[in-house]
Formats: sequence, structure tokens, C-alpha cells
Amino acid sequence: MAAITIYDGAESIGGNKIYVEDNQRGVFLDFGMNYARRSAFFVDFLNERAVRGIHDMLYLDIIPRINVYRQDLLTSDVEPLIKSYPKVSPEAVLLSHAHTDHNGNIGLLDHGIPVVASATSIAIMKAMRDIKSSGLGGDIAYSTLREKDKNNSNLLKTEGSKYQGRQFCYAGKCNPELSEFISDKPGSGGRNAKKLDGCGLEALGKKELPFEIKPFEVNHSIYGAMAYTLRSNNTSLAYTGDFRIGDNAKQLPDFIKEAKNSSVLIIEGTRTGRSGDMDVTETNVYDTCKATSDDVKGIIIADFSARNFERLEIFKRIAREIGRQLVITAKDAYYLYAIGCAAGTCSTDGLLVYDELKDKKACKYETETLAQDCPVEYVRNHEIKDNPDGYILCMSFYDIKQLLDIEPRGGAYIYSSSEAYSEEQEIDFEKLKNWLELFSIEPHGFTFDNGKPKFIKGFHASGHATGEELERVIDAVDPDVLIPVHTQNNGWFKEKWEQTRLVKNGETIEI
Ligand SMILES: [Zn+2]
Repeated sequence: MAAITIYDGAESIGGNKIYVEDNQRGVFLDFGMNYARRSAFFVDFLNERAVRGIHDMLYLDIIPRINVYRQDLLTSDVEPLIKSYPKVSPEAVLLSHAHTDHNGNIGLLDHGIPVVASATSIAIMKAMRDIKSSGLGGDIAYSTLREKDKNNSNLLKTEGSKYQGRQFCYAGKCNPELSEFISDKPGSGGRNAKKLDGCGLEALGKKELPFEIKPFEVNHSIYGAMAYTLRSNNTSLAYTGDFRIGDNAKQLPDFIKEAKNSSVLIIEGTRTGRSGDMDVTETNVYDTCKATSDDVKGIIIADFSARNFERLEIFKRIAREIGRQLVITAKDAYYLYAIGCAAGTCSTDGLLVYDELKDKKACKYETETLAQDCPVEYVRNHEIKDNPDGYILCMSFYDIKQLLDIEPRGGAYIYSSSEAYSEEQEIDFEKLKNWLELFSIEPHGFTFDNGKPKFIKGFHASGHATGEELERVIDAVDPDVLIPVHTQNNGWFKEKWEQTRLVKNGETIEI
């Protein structure tokens, strides 16, 4: 018997955790963080307590109540609970892409569960962990092992700095250098040092899994996004992950061709619920941002979401065309280096890295790995201050404090990212407004209307398919069963396709 259980992500944007099984053998499609659920309880400095392992997330139903998690994250009070939950034994997680709403809980899974992903996604996940541990669930490539405190077994402590790595299987092409990159922890003494325990990289084709799996590159707002088809004796299924068609339709036909042979289609529906959605492509974004940048006097700051390297390429092109140099953060340089390891190219060429005034002791990825393997050219605050017309700075709201050292007078802040969807995000814009006023920098991409940010069309393109694009894909695939996920409006599908199955979180359907 084959079955699908959607543990999470059925009725929210993100948090996908979809278990597909046949004959008691199965795989997860993504294992992401459900931010909507998490933000119902946590904010800023109110967080899950790592010393309690997975307790808080389990208690608050931020993660599903199943027996699948790392043993070293179970405190004494959680252990019997976990034993009482259904045992799920995935043989792999097939990751669609490296956004945290799709991978942000993988770090909680037993270390023996490998992750299948594109080489680019693997590189990004490893770089993310090297830059900073983003909590237990985000420790995907490797994590610090924990043990129960001898004085109180409901508390966990770390066993010195013993790291445990995870196995990856790359789907599609991969440069051999990636293998070296994923087993090397920055700061552990360079390439001759001891490699991370448990790390490994092999080709998807070499791995014996319960399904025949085919990966397909898709276009999304992060490089390395994949759709998958899965086939076994009893079932066949296609999963889109997050995708868009936009002005890059060339990748999708292969997936559609293969998906046509699948009886089940699991598809994302992010934009079906967003009213007044704007239809903008990356080409439009280039045109708008280029026109805005053309006559700017003073500094240009480009703000786009973290790890959106396609957008970075757009600003690199604009910088070249208007005779400025593109300046990125050391973090972004490290991501580009990581992606370069996966692709066998060097993607930091022609870029400058901002030499932030910071204590670099904790930045081994920068002072050791980048310095040794991918030396970058730095630019310092006073150089930008003396010649603000010479640069485009790629910085986000959280980097804005750097302006205190650069002290610009005038210029443009180009906001090239998604609208504020929450009150917290709106509050960030109020603060951004104060910063920009302080340095007389003109905002582009948003204005203020009655104290609330209002977003201007053309500066940002969504990473998700429009309703019309979804229709095209679904009609072309013509599945027997259609399961929408990653949406707040699954009724949109039900109205249009009678084969739609609305599955609730935690529900299992036979296929
Ligand atoms: Zn995504």
C-alpha cells in the first residue's frame, strides 16, 4: 500500500513535511519550519530553549508528534512521550530548496537520515551552518551533539564541541570540490584538519531508496530549487516544491513531461491567497531598478532578501552598466563561494566585500576559509564615504547600522524584496524610515501612507507561480489526484479541479 501523510504545510505557507510511503518504506518531501505556527508563540528574543531539546517545539505543536527525532535532543520527560508517538522511519528527506520554511526543521531529525538536494542547495545549507547556528532545527549540515545534564536529566548540555555531520545525496550535477567543502568546518585548522564526523556526499543514483526518484531544476527565488517525481510499484507522484515560471519557462517542460505519468501531483499555491498580487518578472525588476539607479547622486543601497543570488546578479549587472562597483557582505561572499564549490566556478569575481567593523574572531568562515580558498577584495568604510557615487551596497535592513561608519549624505535605498506581511515587518519599516531620514537617503520601492509602508510595483518579483501559471502546469500534468500545499487558500484548487484532495495536517491518504 502507498500513502501520503502531510504532517505540516497543508494549510500554511511553508512548513512542508510530507511523508510518502510504499510498503512501509518512505521518504519526506521537505521538513521545513512552520513560521506561522511558531510566530503564534515566539518573537525576537522569546525563543525555544535549546537546553530543553525539542520539548518546547513539541509542546507547542510547532513540530509533529512523531517518533523521528535525534536521540540526543530528547530530555528525560520527552523520551516516554516520543516512544508513545507513531514511529516514522524516513530513508531520506528530499529537499526542494534551501529556504528555511522547507528545510528549517531537518536539523532535528536523526543524524542517520540523509538529505537529497541539488548540489547548490547542499552548498547553501553548509554555508548557512558555517556562518552561524540558527537554532537546533537549522543545524542541517552538522550539529553539536548534546547530552543530558547529570544533575537534571530534563536539561541538555553540549558535549564540548563534538560535531556530528549529515549525509547528503546530490540530485543532478555536482562538482567534486563540494565533497571537500561539506566535510570541512571553518576554524578547525584548514584542509589537513580532522573532517567533520558523519559527513558524506554521494550521487542520488547510487542511493538505494524506496522510490525511483527524478529531480528537475525549477525556477524560484533561490538558486538550486528542485521539483521531484517519485515512482514505485504501487504509485507515482510529482512534487513541485516552490516554483515560478516568470520569464524563465525553459526548465519546466521536462518536469511536466515526467509528471504527466504521475497519478498524484502535490503543488504549491502560495499566491492563490494573496489579493492584489502583482505580476512582475525579474526582467521587470532589472528595468525598474536600473532606471532608478541611473541618475542617483550618492550612495545606492540595494536591499533584497537573503540568499536571493539571482537578484544579486541583477544588481551586479546594473552596477557594471552605470559604472559603480557592487559591494556585498562577507556572508554573501561566503555563500557565493559555497555555490561556486558546487558548480565549479568562482562567483565572487568582480565583487567587493564590505570590511565591516566587527570582531572577526567568531567569523572563521571569513578569516580562514574565504581568506584561504577564495581571497576577496575588501572595501573599507572611509573609501565608500569618500566616493559614494562609486558603489552599490547590497545590504539588508539588519545591516543598516553600517551606515554609522559610512556616514552617507543623500543617495538611494532600493527596496527589492517582498511586501511586509506582518505587523512586525511593518514596524521594521518605521525604523528603516528613521535611518534613511537620518542620512537623507531617498527610499525607492516603498513609500509611507498614513504611517504604514506601501509597496511600489516593479522592484520585486515573487518566487512563486501566479494563479495562471499554476493552471497551466496542472492542466498540462492532468493528475488523477491533486494535492495543494504551501497555501492559505486551498479552496481555490477545489473550485477549479474536481480531482483536488484537500488533506489536513496529520491526515494520511492512500494513493
Ligand atoms: Zn521558497
